[in-house]
Amino acid sequence: MDTTSKKLAEDINRLKTARRALIVAHNYQRPEVQDVADFTGDSLELSRIAAQTDAEVIVFCGVNFMAETAKILSPAKTVIVPDPNAGCPLANMVTPRQLQEVKDRHPGAVVVCYVNSSAETKALSDICCTSANAVQVVKSIDRDSEIIFVPDKSLGDYVSRRSGRELILWNGYCPTHHRILPEDIEARRREHPEAVVIVHPECLRPVVDMADHVASTSGIVRLAKELDACEFIIGTEIGILHRLKKEAPGKEFYAASRLADCPNMKLNDLPKILWALEDMTNKVELAADLIERARAPIEKMVAIG
Ligand code: SF4
Repeated sequence: MDTTSKKLAEDINRLKTARRALIVAHNYQRPEVQDVADFTGDSLELSRIAAQTDAEVIVFCGVNFMAETAKILSPAKTVIVPDPNAGCPLANMVTPRQLQEVKDRHPGAVVVCYVNSSAETKALSDICCTSANAVQVVKSIDRDSEIIFVPDKSLGDYVSRRSGRELILWNGYCPTHHRILPEDIEARRREHPEAVVIVHPECLRPVVDMADHVASTSGIVRLAKELDACEFIIGTEIGILHRLKKEAPGKEFYAASRLADCPNMKLNDLPKILWALEDMTNKVELAADLIERARAPIEKMVAIG
């Protein structure tokens, strides 16, 4: 950390204590944001940590749907975001009206909703899933039921193949993960022939099919620590490399593509965290009935384990 970042981090820590705040940062955040956070993890992990803490204020460094999920699980807490413009293009690829139209065309279908979605989308869904438990969630659904899977078609395709269930896929995708191409994996493998390839299931199908392991962000961190290999090619957003290097020192990590850099995730920085804490701005506000409706599919997911 340079001197300016160190000074900002000190000011943030002082204010954090005064405000009884907890700072959580998604695995894709800038290195200095991860370093100032109390916890780093995936979106649901962080929302659950936020719900368990006795902190009164949660500073959520991620994108908006993540902060909304934290608010849904901790309605009595103040959840603030460093930059309210940090949206997620994938989450924005489904609107409540569009989803209602598809539900109307498939009456009785079960809607499985990836956590990378707005509170409104969750509220229209039957059960949520993460990239770590999506296969398990889909397998838990009655075999006679039609299943609408929103919004990520790549994750949906992977889940369909792993679960053996036909899914009605939404035409959404993560632009950042789709920047990782099969030729990137080939090139990295030529450069590092001993490396183990781990990719996120939001990647394109040919990329998923080339990988040694397919895992969520927390799964990638776990595999990197547990596997005997010393070198890894990582096919997800490049912010995770910072956490991997910290938590698996002595191992080498290579980005499958340096283009997998989510501009929305990187909107948060130390000055914005400090401003948000100083002014207590950018609070996540959700109507009580929306919180209640969006919470139900999350709790259903948690109940299946
Ligand atoms: Fe959304 Fe993809 Fe960026 Fe995650 S990496 S916030 S899914 S656009």
